[in-house]
Amino acid sequence: MNEILKNKKLYIFDMDGTVYLENTVFPFAVTFIHKLRKAGKKVLFFTNNASQNVRVYLDKLNRMGFEATKDEILSSADVCAAFLTRYRKDKSVYLLGTPELEECFCTYGVPLTDERGNADIVVVSFDKTLTYDKLNHACRFIRNGAEFLSTHPDLNCPVKDGYIPDSGAICAAVTASTGKSPRYFGKPHRETVDMICEITGVDKSDMCIFGDRLYTDIAMGASHGITSTLVLTGEATEEEALQASPDARADFIYPSLQQVDEDIFE
Ligand SMILES: [Mg+2]
Repeated sequence: MNEILKNKKLYIFDMDGTVYLENTVFPFAVTFIHKLRKAGKKVLFFTNNASQNVRVYLDKLNRMGFEATKDEILSSADVCAAFLTRYRKDKSVYLLGTPELEECFCTYGVPLTDERGNADIVVVSFDKTLTYDKLNHACRFIRNGAEFLSTHPDLNCPVKDGYIPDSGAICAAVTASTGKSPRYFGKPHRETVDMICEITGVDKSDMCIFGDRLYTDIAMGASHGITSTLVLTGEATEEEALQASPDARADFIYPSLQQVDEDIFE
């Protein structure tokens, strides 16, 4: 019995590599999450993948049987957009992102500009519609003094047959050209923890996070005092986890959420 995990109030789940892999659901994840809700626990799905919006994630999770509600889903796009509307009000933003991310920023009221405008801020994300022109405009704005932000630091996104370049890899190209480094949002950054606390009203000591990646999911726990559990169904191996630096060290390591379920409910 894992008393520490059993007594938490909010269970935060990474998505890709933790509850599903691309379009293949881990059936034990569905069972586990249903049991948590039945036991009166709060559940939150948090993904750094800002290439999709909440509606897409909601459809996907519910097709898989999770019976999620809109307020159980957050992404790094929400954290970044909330920061922009609160702390960079009325600043114009040039965005390297998908149409879904653009839609999300518009919902928050972030003023977006195109390449002909005068951007105060450049936000780089997991832009699957990236072109050389877009990359060039982003670099030009940053060289001219625009602030450089990014929704999330992930270098690669896991897919069935390996990895595809993610937000952090696109940022690296911008950094190579401009010499400037971005300020990142999403996991493992403080703004994400603050937003989760604000939205759920749960104290950090009553939360736990489950994820498959050390430098985002586990680091968010380790660097902000949130109990973290690594599952070995995605990116990180047990060996990597055992060798991780203290700021990315998991409190618990399980083969998958199935064993977590057994350790909490049986
Ligand atoms: Mg993951």
